[in-house]
Parts: sequence; structure tokens; C-alpha cells
Amino acid sequence: MSELKVLLSRQQIAERVTEMAKQITADAKGEPLLFVGVLKGAAIFLSDLVRQVEVDATFEFIAVSTYGNRPTPTQELRHAWDSTGEVKLTKDVDQSLRGKNVILVEDILDTGLTLTFLKRLLQGHQPKSFRVAVLLDKPSRRKMPVEADYTGFQIPDEFVVGYGLDYAERYRNLADICVLRNGTSTNEN
Ligand code: 5GP
Repeated sequence: MSELKVLLSRQQIAERVTEMAKQITADAKGEPLLFVGVLKGAAIFLSDLVRQVEVDATFEFIAVSTYGNRPTPTQELRHAWDSTGEVKLTKDVDQSLRGKNVILVEDILDTGLTLTFLKRLLQGHQPKSFRVAVLLDKPSRRKMPVEADYTGFQIPDEFVVGYGLDYAERYRNLADICVLRNGTSTNEN
């Protein structure tokens, strides 16, 4: 049996995303922005964010895979999640980032290994500016010294699902962000 407990309600998320969009709009100073979302977790956050940004904006999606111990039904969620640091790009951008004002959009900043990899990779495309927006940040888990420019919420070291975030591809469609506690099985209905 899985246990879901609401950590951030849909109202809290909506209010914070609106604030982030206002800040991003102000910082853009009228220049166009190119948002680059990391699939699949950031898709919902990106779609809510870009619709509230009041400058000319386009978006792209990239995808990465991490070789690590994604939680499995036989492992405890809290301790099982740990990446090895080997991140691989599995889907690249379809347009050049050169000379553009790029905002990388991530669902959650955890150890920082994924963001460190992506920052290095995307900055190599020589954008005009490069900023990072993350919805969630677990600062206590950080292994790499990397921070986002825009952070929605700092959260404790809990495994969360919903609003795009999954556990074995489930729960992405939950409107709230919930803590998923042990006892989860991928076979459950
Ligand atoms: P990092 O490389 O910073 O350790 O991990 C970032 C990625 O790990 C996120 O983009 C996300 O896919 C995954 N991740 C980290 N913590 C959680 C969590 O609590 N829930 C879910 N669903 N994914 C997480």
C-alpha cells in the first residue's frame, strides 16, 4: 500500500509559480526567452510557468537518464534514491541556443549532479545568458555546489511525487505535490 501525504497544495504551487513568472519577466527586461525543460518531470511546471511570463518566449525539451539506484519496490524509497553521477543526454534541443537568453527548467534539485551536468552542457552552446529555474530544492541532499537562480520551494529530504514528478512513471498527474512513503509496489492498482 502506498501512502501519499500532501506536502504542497495546488494553490500553494500556483501562487509560487505566478511569483516566479513575475520575477523571470522582470529580469528578462523585455528580451525574448528560450525555456529548456527537462523531461518528463518539468513538463507541467514549464507549461504553467511559460504561460505567465510576459515576454516573447519559446520552449524546448531535453531528456536525460541517470545511472543510479532509482527506488524499486524492494528498496526503501528514502534511502534508495541516489544517483551515481553518470548522467547521459537522451534528447537534445532542436534549435541552437547560441546568443539566446536560456532558462533551464528542472523539477527538482537534489544532489545537484544532473544540474551540474546540464549547466556545463548547455553553457557550452554559448547562450547570451543562462539561468536555472527549479520548482523544488532539497538542499540537505546536495553533493555538488550548484544552485538555481529561481527556486519554488525548499523541501526536506523526502521522496515526492505529483505535478510532473513520478514514482515508476506513476503519480505525475497529481495536482498536489505529495510525499510518498514506504510500502509502495509498482504492481499495485
Ligand atoms: P539530482 O541529479 O539533483 O540528484 O537529481 C535530480 C533528479 O532526480 C530530478 O530531476 C528528479 O528526476 C529526480 N528526483 C530527485 N528527488 C526526487 C523526488 O523526491 N521525487 C522524484 N519523483 N524524483 C526525484
